[in-house]
Amino acid sequence: MAEIDGATLMARALKQQGVKFMYGIVGFPVIPIAMAAQREGIRYIGMRNEQSASYAAQAAGYLLGRPQACLVVSGPGVVHALSGLANAQQNCWPMILIGGANSTSQNGMQAFQEERQVHIASPFCKYAHGVESVDRIPFYVEQAIRTALYGRPGAAYLDMPEDVISGLVEEDDIDFPATIAEPPRSLAPPENIEAALDVLEGAEKPLVIIGKGMAWARAEDDVRAFIERTQLPFLASPMGKGVMPDDHSLSVGAARTLALQEADTIFLMGARFNWIMHFGLPPRFGKNTRIIQLDSTAEEISHNRETEVALLGDGKAIVGQLNDALKNRQWFFPTGTDWQAALSEKAAANAAAVAPMVDDNTKPMNYYRAYRDIVDRLPKDAMIIGEGANTMDIGRTQMPNLEPRRRLDAGTYGTMGVGLGFAIAAATVHPDRPTIVVQGDSAFGFSGMEMETAARYRLPIKVIILNNGGIGGGAPEPEDGVDRLPHALMHGARYDKMAEAFGGKGFHVDDPADLGAVLDEALAFDGMVIVNVVIAADAGRKPQAHHWHG
Ligand code: ADP
Ligand code: MG
Repeated sequence: MAEIDGATLMARALKQQGVKFMYGIVGFPVIPIAMAAQREGIRYIGMRNEQSASYAAQAAGYLLGRPQACLVVSGPGVVHALSGLANAQQNCWPMILIGGANSTSQNGMQAFQEERQVHIASPFCKYAHGVESVDRIPFYVEQAIRTALYGRPGAAYLDMPEDVISGLVEEDDIDFPATIAEPPRSLAPPENIEAALDVLEGAEKPLVIIGKGMAWARAEDDVRAFIERTQLPFLASPMGKGVMPDDHSLSVGAARTLALQEADTIFLMGARFNWIMHFGLPPRFGKNTRIIQLDSTAEEISHNRETEVALLGDGKAIVGQLNDALKNRQWFFPTGTDWQAALSEKAAANAAAVAPMVDDNTKPMNYYRAYRDIVDRLPKDAMIIGEGANTMDIGRTQMPNLEPRRRLDAGTYGTMGVGLGFAIAAATVHPDRPTIVVQGDSAFGFSGMEMETAARYRLPIKVIILNNGGIGGGAPEPEDGVDRLPHALMHGARYDKMAEAFGGKGFHVDDPADLGAVLDEALAFDGMVIVNVVIAADAGRKPQAHHWHG
């Protein structure tokens, strides 16, 4: 009979449950788990900071539709990875964190890096548990991964003490639970389907809001059929972008404020009325707007704003039901209404308002001018990662997404520093697609050392830094003897040189006239690239009607 150790059992159980990637940082006591993962056929990506590793694992989980793993050492390793657990929970993305821990025989003795890990992980997880014996590892892995994946996706944590990692059991004595099936997809009651369609039929100014829940549900084909059958105007949330292509004729993303404010009926699908959606409340939404809401989580129904028709269940399954029910109806939203005219007019006015900035060749350049040349060259199949304040907000409006699950950004939690972890996830999960990161200088700084990770694994990610020398806005040079403002960073810092340090290629651009040619060269380079683009310290967004979190 052959013996097997806890590390191997852990890797085998993860692999059996669909884990293809493990992002982490090794050290005591988890090195054997990383080694076992490689032996068992899980791709191990060694990162430079546990935050980035946990961000990478959750982005990979979102992209693949199964939880992926993050591996960290005890104590501070787990503490650093908490950021990722919190971000995963907020985004409703699945992941599993595996933390090493001191040997159970030393519990309570001030052991090396001893910490109450299950306790501190719990508030940020759907499931957190300490594995107390080697033979139960497959049981806990199945439980953790199933909990992360089923229902509203989220984070799971498993604590692995040193003696469990190195402990041995007879291989033949181990029972592996079955591989977890795809999440069950539940349907809405037929009467609610009919009620939702009745409300839509009665609308004069309807609007569909598509969120990242629909991207997670892989509902793109069904949503497209629904939108094209009903001819309803739609708006995407930041990461709901691409479920319907941004360039679709029914997209009203360019008239977002008006669409939200004036709609008399809103069909919210796979999105929440949280801060990103202005809580669904006046002044950003109408007072009497009728709400239809599709969500897989019952607690989300009527959250912040009362829902008239609830479609509780899976996004793909329910939009499929709607499409079936529409076969028995003649109705579709007619073309040529005042509503469509108002939305197109507003979209055109918004485009005209930014046009002078898009074509402004002043040096140093503004964001819209920088995005003009980026967008012109954006490969159609690119994974797009956007992060920063103005950089992300303006990028969201300027960079189109034509396919689902191709955009990753600061998300529901508004986390800065996720970008390079997400980029490494995108480039490892989709090596066939170009990964383009457009970040502010502040956002880049949180995890810039992951460029070494990208170089080490030969991930040809293209990082474009829109460098305004500040957190949010840039800052003027202070007078002599006066400290710099709190949000000031070094303007014109040569982040591009970091690429060269790791064998990539760096580019520095301060004249808009040069940007296009530099981007061509950067995108053509077969390796990791940083393009450092100097943006005017006082550049900003076009004037907004409302404050962003109002
Ligand atoms: P966004 O940031 O795009 O607005 P949110 O993360 O706020 O999206 O909301 C996504 C919503 O999608 C969550 O309320 C979540 O419960 C829901 N959701 C997750 N999975 C599914 C699914 N399979 N079907 C329908 N809704 C889902
Ligand atoms: Mg900045």
